[in-house]
Amino acid sequence: MENARGIGIMGGTFDPIHYGHLIIADEARQQFGLEKVVFVPAGQPPHKKEYKVSSAEHRYAMTVIATASHPDFICSRIEMDRAGPSYSIDTIREVRNAYPGYQVYFITGADAIAEILTWHEHARLKSLCKFIAATRPGYDLEELRHRLPADYVDQIVFLEVPGVYISSTELRERIATGRSIKFMVPEAVESYIAKNGLYKS
Ligand code: ATP
Ligand code: MG
Repeated sequence: MENARGIGIMGGTFDPIHYGHLIIADEARQQFGLEKVVFVPAGQPPHKKEYKVSSAEHRYAMTVIATASHPDFICSRIEMDRAGPSYSIDTIREVRNAYPGYQVYFITGADAIAEILTWHEHARLKSLCKFIAATRPGYDLEELRHRLPADYVDQIVFLEVPGVYISSTELRERIATGRSIKFMVPEAVESYIAKNGLYKS
């Protein structure tokens, strides 16, 4: 499969989507010659998070708006429309079925790849796709390379991206405390957030 055509999956809560997500997706696309990157907003988290996650419809709408201008970025509702808890492995299987013969790459930041061993059916995951682990300020990819089991590291390709110190958590806090998020998210996403009164505490 070395010369197979590639498709990327960019999973996330996207609450809200920001330039960190868009930059790693586009760097991955370019570096690995991916034909498309599919953005998959996560379904409503089953377990309580430390904050109330926005509705899947709002998160999906922001993802569509943010990716609209990129010819190779598409969005998928598969996780949000799936009943019950949402697992990456089901999403990877669905994308494999939709794109037979393609090499599937699951794109994550350095913090998310660190949790790989806690994912559902993680042992089987690695036979279905490769992982792209992008650098993220504050997380040490090198340390990770040594900590993860060798058979995992073989399935992970490491990707250096321009460091973006933005997180959705920080954006939510900024909005809740009346600070600006200008130039951290696409302008249309900023407008959508304001129009719908999202993240106001
Ligand atoms: P939160 O603070 O709510 O966790 P987040 O900014 O981490 O939000 P997620 O939706 O949790 O965004 O992340 C989706 C994916 O994007 C994850 O794989 C995460 O590692 C990656 N990612 C998010 N922000 C960045 C960034 N600034 N640089 C590199 N990777 C990032
Ligand atoms: Mg996160």
